[in-house]
Amino acid sequence: MQVPATFEYERADSVPHALELLERYGPEARVVAGGHSLIPMMKLRLAQPEALIDINGLADELGGIAVEGDELAIGAMVRHTELLESATATDLFPIFRDAERVIADPIVRNRGTVGGSLCQGDPSEDLSAVFAALRATAVIQGPGGIRTVAVREFHEGPYETAVQPNELLIQLRVPVAPGTGSAYEKVERRVGDWPVAAAGAVLRIEGGVIAQAGIGLTAVGAGHFCAPEAEAHLEGRAPDEEAFAQAGRIAAEHCEPHADQRGPADYKRHLAAELTRRALARAAGRI
Ligand SMILES: Cc1cc2nc3c(=O)[nH]c(=O)nc-3n(C[C@H](O)[C@H](O)[C@H](O)COP(=O)(O)OP(=O)(O)OC[C@H]3O[C@@H](n4cnc5c(N)ncnc54)[C@H](O)[C@@H]3O)c2cc1C
Repeated sequence: MQVPATFEYERADSVPHALELLERYGPEARVVAGGHSLIPMMKLRLAQPEALIDINGLADELGGIAVEGDELAIGAMVRHTELLESATATDLFPIFRDAERVIADPIVRNRGTVGGSLCQGDPSEDLSAVFAALRATAVIQGPGGIRTVAVREFHEGPYETAVQPNELLIQLRVPVAPGTGSAYEKVERRVGDWPVAAAGAVLRIEGGVIAQAGIGLTAVGAGHFCAPEAEAHLEGRAPDEEAFAQAGRIAAEHCEPHADQRGPADYKRHLAAELTRRALARAAGRI
């Protein structure tokens, strides 16, 4: 079935208006951003919202990429292409360029948004691993005001996030610190495909040792898209190949990949180790 069920359509003209519409239509309403995940699901009738609240008119309130104090702020309505082309974001964190270059194709990237990607909560989503590696914070607005949730606590399960039906994700905030390098490594079956597996790494070096490590993994069943045991192994060690290889092995041990059309579980576990090692080495080389 390639035709969606019927639904009401409303175009929000401000964040308060969008929140008011979400309240008015109740939990069966859904926000539509780029529509690249939601509309195909509606066509397949995997999603049948009674109302769509279109937030594409909110680029002023929910767009923009800027350094604010010691954080990089990225609006929820920033399109993949904007992030890929943002020198502010990619000079500070090359992990964004690495990842965005291999997310889908230009058509999807021109429309799909950062906020939609995180809110979709797909277990193979690339940006979830990126923001988990970066230890970003999600800023959520609802009728009660604004609250923040660590991206590492944002995903509550496949396709489930901390954003409630009457709330909007409005921004992602990434801590900025000197001495930081970052990178993303992905294996896909063909150009533009979802990952078979992918790993992101963020390293901060102080006095010749790793002061903080961030590792994000996607499509391999890593809890909350991260690898805290491998990060703990790295902290306080010299940033060398042996440490990176061991961190990769630890990260892979704690994954729970499932076999599917993209590959068998043991292959994905192998990729988790190898891509983590490669991402760490590349991140270290960028400091
Ligand atoms: C052919 C194709 C290939 C793709 N390949 C990849 C890939 O390789 N890697 C990858 O990571 N992704 C991939 N994607 C997904 C792509 O990145 C989508 O853009 C993304 O998943 C959803 O973003 P969107 O803005 O289109 O969200 P939408 O489809 O508009 O929304 C998705 C969900 O998020 C909710 N939502 C959206 N914005 C908000 C908000 N601000 N607050 C609260 N809820 C919100 C919606 O209600 C909906 O439930 C692909 C998609 C397609 C169609």
